[in-house]
Formats: sequence, C-alpha cells, structure tokens
Amino acid sequence: MSIYRYETHLHTLEASACAKSWAVDYIPAYREAGYSGIIVTDHFFNGNTNIPAHLGWAERVRRFCSGYEHAKVAGEREGLAVFFGFEACFIEDEYLIYGLDKEWLLDNPAIMEWDQRTLFEEVDRLGGLMIQAHPFRERSYNYALYLHPYAVHGVEVVNGGNPVLFDQRARLYAEHYNLLMTSGTDIHETSKVGPDTRGMAFDYPLSSIDVFIKAVKENEHYTLLQSNEHRERPRSTEPTLPVHLFEHYPTGERALGTV
Ligand SMILES: [Zn+2]
Ligand SMILES: [Zn+2]
Repeated sequence: MSIYRYETHLHTLEASACAKSWAVDYIPAYREAGYSGIIVTDHFFNGNTNIPAHLGWAERVRRFCSGYEHAKVAGEREGLAVFFGFEACFIEDEYLIYGLDKEWLLDNPAIMEWDQRTLFEEVDRLGGLMIQAHPFRERSYNYALYLHPYAVHGVEVVNGGNPVLFDQRARLYAEHYNLLMTSGTDIHETSKVGPDTRGMAFDYPLSSIDVFIKAVKENEHYTLLQSNEHRERPRSTEPTLPVHLFEHYPTGERALGTV
C-alpha cells in the first residue's frame, strides 16, 4: 500500500524571523525526500515574526501569507501539495492552527487580543484544528511551560526541533487528557530535510487542508513519522521548568470535558 507523507510544521524566510530558507526552496527538497505535501505554518504576529508591526493589518496579513503563496505556486509547478496554517504564540506556548485562511485573518484582527480558549472556540466553531506545538520543550530562553488541555484538539508529540525526552513527555500528557497527536519537523531550513524529517503519513493523498483536519480529528488513516524511542516512556517525567496547567477558567468555571 502506498503512503503519502506530509510535513505539518514548516517556517519560511518570508514570514518567520528564525527561518533560513525561502518558501520555494522547500519544494524540491521535500519532493526528493518522497513527501506528497507540506503545510506552511509561519510564526504569527504574536510569535517570532519578521513582519513589521507598524504596517496596516491587511499589509501584514498579505506579507504573512506570502511564504505559503510562493510555496503553493512552486508546488503546483513541481508536483507537491502545499497547504496553509500558522503558529500562534501566547506567553511562551505556541499553537499550530489549521483550517483558517488568509480571508479569515484579514477579517479578524481581534485575534491579537484573544486568549488560548477564545481562539480555540473560534477554530473549533469553524471546523479547524488547534494543536499545541512542542508543549514540553525547554530551551535556555524559556521560563515556564504553559499547558492548556481544554484549549486544543491535540498535541504535537513528535517535533523535529526537540530532544526525544520532551516529545515523550508530550505523549504522556496527550494520553492523559485523551488528546489527538501530531508529528512535525518544525523545519526552519531546507538543509534539515533528510532521514530525520518528521510529519504524518496518510493512506491516501490529501486534496485539501480540510481532508487533513478530518483525518486527524477522526484519528484514522495516518501514522506519525517518528523514531522507535518516541514510543518509549520518558526516563524522567518531571520538567525542569515550572509548569502552569490551565484546568480552570478565570471565572472559576471548570473547563469543558473535565469530570
Ligand atoms: Zn521558529
Ligand atoms: Zn514552529
């Protein structure tokens, strides 16, 4: 049976300050690596963006989407599917958003004022998918971990930028809260496309981002691209950084889904 590999977490030089490769350069790299498609997920304006904040909202959105659009044109020419997503940042916690598009961003500058739960409710209402990216990653610039199990559909349990220990902790967390699981490389440069490139492998080609979302939500017809180690229990489950776990809302109301 054929499998169809897709990258779910990718940054371009057009919009992400930390990226080193232009959108079009990912197309031949992923094609040669045997992928069927990529989802471009640049850091949004509340994350590591390179879009100047002084521009008007429409111009910022236009520039933000240019990485995806350049990749899309090249992908159509060279035979690689290209879909749109983005990575929203709050304090230090980041979320991959799939299913909202450029039109939606143009119409919704209020997104900059929203908290995690408000964004989640809107994404969910519109049939999209919200995944917390690398929730247990600890880097020198991090002060704490922020976990919002009731503001996501799922968790990225395999992240190409993480040591496997952080991914193993993310998997335990996802299992505990019965959350969906995704895998992505979190790629910032084409030189990282290779044997350790992550993502998800589907039984059938994805014709749109909606087909991707549907499969993930149904938790069917795909496997995570991961190492054997990813399936093992972490040697230590205790993060070094303090953990802020949001199980209640400011009103005192218990989050949906709790018992
Ligand atoms: Zn980045
Ligand atoms: Zn990222």
